[in-house]
Amino acid sequence: MTNEQHPAAAARRAEIAEGIAAVRARIAAACAAAGRDEDELTLIAVTKTFPASDVRLLAGLGLTDVGENRDQEARPKAAECADLPLTWHFVGSVQTNKARAVARYADVVHSVDRSRLVSALSDAAARAERTLRCLVQVSLDEAEGRGGAAPGDVPRIADEIAAASGLELGGVMAVAPLGADPAPAFARLAGIAADVRGNHPEARIVSAGMSGDLEQAIACGATHLRVGTALLGGRRAIVR
Ligand SMILES: *Cc1c(COP(=O)(O)O)cnc(C)c1O
Repeated sequence: MTNEQHPAAAARRAEIAEGIAAVRARIAAACAAAGRDEDELTLIAVTKTFPASDVRLLAGLGLTDVGENRDQEARPKAAECADLPLTWHFVGSVQTNKARAVARYADVVHSVDRSRLVSALSDAAARAERTLRCLVQVSLDEAEGRGGAAPGDVPRIADEIAAASGLELGGVMAVAPLGADPAPAFARLAGIAADVRGNHPEARIVSAGMSGDLEQAIACGATHLRVGTALLGGRRAIVR
């Protein structure tokens, strides 16, 4: 019996297919409400804490983009799935000393929030002979320390990425503040994204929206949604 035919694998496949259908329906409804075209949106399946076998199932079900937030976990998973036609998004904070590792498998880094990381990723991209698309992560709740640049620093970091060899400025990313209405935060992000596009018209990515707030993100112009739980189910807490 191959893995695909195994009853447990078939059940997991059905569960994930259901998750994809439910998320696609939410996206369709939110696009209809916002007068947007679904083709403008890229759905990134955030696979952190889930095994490589789930990544394989997602790819088999037509997903093209996956996201991870920790290098230790992402590196072996990306290696196991190297045969799949996937775009890998790194959505967690990147320690400067992990830049080299991340540059070898990530296609898009969503969490660039400081100059030192721009130079580390540029060196790493050169070494890996790859081009990394980078997004400036914006902190929408500056007090919380969940990563991200202060809004006032975003234009400078965007310019640095655009000027760095081996890097391509893709746009901006943010996580909605915890416990607050995401809509005003995403509206603020949309303004920051428009400012960045003023100087860098090619930087069209707005990465916003997760399982709990993808509708509000779509209403505010998000182009990339990072969805974990709603596609794959609940994550077990991981001990670091
Ligand atoms: C885990 C994670 C997500 C996905 O969150 P869900 O609520 O499970 O959809 C999105 N973005 C980032 C940065 C994450 O770390």
